[in-house]
Amino acid sequence: DRVFKIVLAGDAAVGKSSFIMRLCKNKFVTNLNSTVGVDFQTKTLKVDGKIIALQLWDTAGQERFRSIAKSYFRRADGVLLLYDVTYEKSFLNVRDWIEIIKDGTQKYIPVMIVGNKCDLREDRRIKDVCLKYEDGHNLASNVDCLFVETSAKSGSNINEAIIELTRFAHHML
Ligand code: GDP
Repeated sequence: DRVFKIVLAGDAAVGKSSFIMRLCKNKFVTNLNSTVGVDFQTKTLKVDGKIIALQLWDTAGQERFRSIAKSYFRRADGVLLLYDVTYEKSFLNVRDWIEIIKDGTQKYIPVMIVGNKCDLREDRRIKDVCLKYEDGHNLASNVDCLFVETSAKSGSNINEAIIELTRFAHHML
């Protein structure tokens, strides 16, 4: 009987829409192109025997507009902060995102940092330039966030990420 609002944050093209698509529709589409008009998707989950209704808010297009992004975080029960493991810039921007998330509100918001596109490590040509699991894990422990690596493409860890964040946020209430 409780609705959890989860907001997805992170640079453009890290896979926020794909993450939501995988979670809610169990699909991966290469050319998602802004699904205009939809603010959020819903998903119900069973966590520790309780049914939890999730609202997943995408900040698509708001990456450059901090003031709009902030208003999303203000009403969030939890944030999934994505970066792309093949794109260092998106990883370096994680700290900025955390500032923006904290800036919008006085209340504590659980944040899970998510290294997405980890399926691309399977590609030998890319493997060496990819961020390592430890990179993300170390950053997350420095900034006191949860951490997971996912692939919206393969579906790896997508459900697990949401369950862990929801469980954590639930205990924070
Ligand atoms: P957003 O701008 O953060 O919402 O990112 P999108 O969901 O639109 O994804 C950007 C691009 O990355 C698209 O071409 C996706 O198909 C691709 N992408 C997203 N997630 C993954 C993933 O887990 N693995 C791979 N290989 N590609 C992904």
